[in-house]
Amino acid sequence: MKQITDIVKQYWGFDAFMPLQREATQCVMEERDSLVVLPTGGGKSLCFQAPALAMSGMAVVVSPLLSLMKDQVDALRANGVPAARIDSTMTAAERRSTHEAIQARRMKLLYVSPERMAQPNFIAYLQVIGVAYFVVDEAHCISHWGHDFRPEYREMRALHDNFPDTAIHAYTATATNQVRRDIISQLHLRDPAQLVGNFDRPNLNYRVQKRAKGVTQIMETVDAHKGEPGIIYCLRRTDVDTLSDQLTAAGYKALPYHAGMNDIERKRNQDAFSNDEVDIIVATIAFGMGIDKSNVRFVLHTAMPKSIEHYQQETGRAGRDGLPADCCLLYSYQDFMVWKNITGKMEDDKARRTSQQKLREMLGYSQGFACRHKALSEYFGQPYANSRCDACDVCLEQFEKMENSGEIAGHIFRAVNALGDIAGPRYTTLVLTGSEDERIKARRHNKCASYSALSAYDEKTVRDWIEQMTQQGYLEKQGEYSILYVTSTGHDAFTSGEGGPQLMRPAPKTTGKKATRAAAAPVTSDQYDAGLFDALKKTRLETARKNNVPPFVVFSDATLRDMARRMPDSYDTFLSVQGVGEKKREAFADRFLEIIRVYRNDHPDTTPVKSNPSDSTRKPNPSSEKAGALFEQGRSIAEVAEIMKRSPSTVEGYIVEYFYRQKRTNPEPWITPDTMDAVRRAFTEVDGERLKPVFEKLNGEIPYWQIRLCKVCLENQSEEDTAGG
Ligand code: ADP
Repeated sequence: MKQITDIVKQYWGFDAFMPLQREATQCVMEERDSLVVLPTGGGKSLCFQAPALAMSGMAVVVSPLLSLMKDQVDALRANGVPAARIDSTMTAAERRSTHEAIQARRMKLLYVSPERMAQPNFIAYLQVIGVAYFVVDEAHCISHWGHDFRPEYREMRALHDNFPDTAIHAYTATATNQVRRDIISQLHLRDPAQLVGNFDRPNLNYRVQKRAKGVTQIMETVDAHKGEPGIIYCLRRTDVDTLSDQLTAAGYKALPYHAGMNDIERKRNQDAFSNDEVDIIVATIAFGMGIDKSNVRFVLHTAMPKSIEHYQQETGRAGRDGLPADCCLLYSYQDFMVWKNITGKMEDDKARRTSQQKLREMLGYSQGFACRHKALSEYFGQPYANSRCDACDVCLEQFEKMENSGEIAGHIFRAVNALGDIAGPRYTTLVLTGSEDERIKARRHNKCASYSALSAYDEKTVRDWIEQMTQQGYLEKQGEYSILYVTSTGHDAFTSGEGGPQLMRPAPKTTGKKATRAAAAPVTSDQYDAGLFDALKKTRLETARKNNVPPFVVFSDATLRDMARRMPDSYDTFLSVQGVGEKKREAFADRFLEIIRVYRNDHPDTTPVKSNPSDSTRKPNPSSEKAGALFEQGRSIAEVAEIMKRSPSTVEGYIVEYFYRQKRTNPEPWITPDTMDAVRRAFTEVDGERLKPVFEKLNGEIPYWQIRLCKVCLENQSEEDTAGG
């Protein structure tokens, strides 16, 4: 069997795996069910696509959207991988040729919709053909607890019954623990390996601002990214149309996208964005799922999405090439109310409660002042180790901490108590700032001690502090009119004078500006010749037009950058560029080599840059490094899991990776010599390197991770022997 690393190099042109890709491909090849959770841009597709070329038979990928399927199939074919999709838009001739390729056992990957996967005659067809393994992409769609439940996904609950000997691999970018458990139970996954990637996207710079009237805030972000691709999300279709027109009138290259437009128009606009013909797409959340554009430099939300899952997925479309990108969220309490009304109408009790809980969490994120990277990581169940990220508005000090928070909070507490149970945030603010409002005089609240107590600050700031105190649990709002009350936490803090709220306000503009630029700092080691990059981009666009495919199907931005860095001068060295596999070399090398040659002739001083940032993918991730140090102390899996607050199955993955990296040959004390011996014998008897037969041979008594660890040690031993001999 061909090594998976060779396949990845030959077809995809990558030298190294991204985190967890190796483990995920291993699960597929070992035919062990798996649940893989990697963030957008984490390289999920490669994990389930590459093994198909190493294994016999055809893999079936279930995917929710036609556009998504099409992009993946196009990209696979461009790499020379036999792949196809079956969908209702195909012509009879396309159907026939796909069927013939399947019958002739030439097909490696087949993409289908969940609806098709539920059809009895299609199931029967696949049972005859045989399926190497199933992949359920966007697997969170199967869960009520997820943010994008699709009833048609539920039909796949019978997949394991219909194909008892075939492994199922579920993939998703967003899953809280609850969703993860639900995916496993709905799909009846059997002792699945669970691989959960790092959710933090260090190259994304997060910012949250309260929305002001008008388009000034929007223009600030757009102007900071002149000529760069960006996505602007709006809540309503009318907002999309209005903003898109405004931007166009102001001279920006922008197009709208929403479900109210017809298919042709929508596709045309999406293509124009994909093909770099326009910079900005203004869209509702209908846009994005099928988008594989790697160089999106900003994602701007003009309103609050309805869940952190949505927010993460939508912002995840920025900076997939690993280069800095900005994610700016403009929100108002109004957005919360709009969503609350919409979700309040949901008939299903469970779905309504879940949605409203998610909505509150989203509001909490928007109003909160914790590091954004930390807040997002922790929401998805991952501890965030860094004390500050240097890539969010909070850590970059775009907010000013109020040194006199205790004093301000005291005034607010007293006002809320004094106004009894009649006042909401707005009225309380008016009293505190000493407003001349007639209602205040009529109720004689201008005579109370709190009147004008915070007149040194403007209404917006005071109102914001009330929201912050609510968010931090010191106040609560009740009923239709959001009447304010002091909570028991608030009462305790107020009476003891200890542990009160920390209040913030936006910092003066000069420090605020730092943010957009600062995000660039950690990643600017990416050196390449910008002039050559532009020339290569132009050629890419021409090539793409000629072949009638989006430019990213030719080469990604990351690949062109690597080309502009290495400046290959021969057919051989062209293959060293990250993202160039054999098929693409054959198709495009001549053309691109020529551009490089001409460019270097015209610019004789340019030289290739030796260091290659993509080598960083070979480095262990910090968590597994930390785990390594604990393994060195001889700690057990359970202990490391406890210390690192990870699940034991994650730590099992770490130890295997650590042993692999360190080329360790002795698995004691985690594995007894007897077990190691038994595994060695079983491997000798089963002939091959799959784990499943070994697992079965050992009567299922030795868990997979132990078998895998033994296998790594055995491989390392044999490598040592060869090297020594
Ligand atoms: P996801 O589906 O998880 O959002 P993709 O599969 O679209 O992510 O991969 C994101 C990007 O990373 C793509 O441009 C892909 O070509 C690239 N990529 C995937 N694996 C590797 C790798 N091992 N080395 C370099 N780039 C990779």
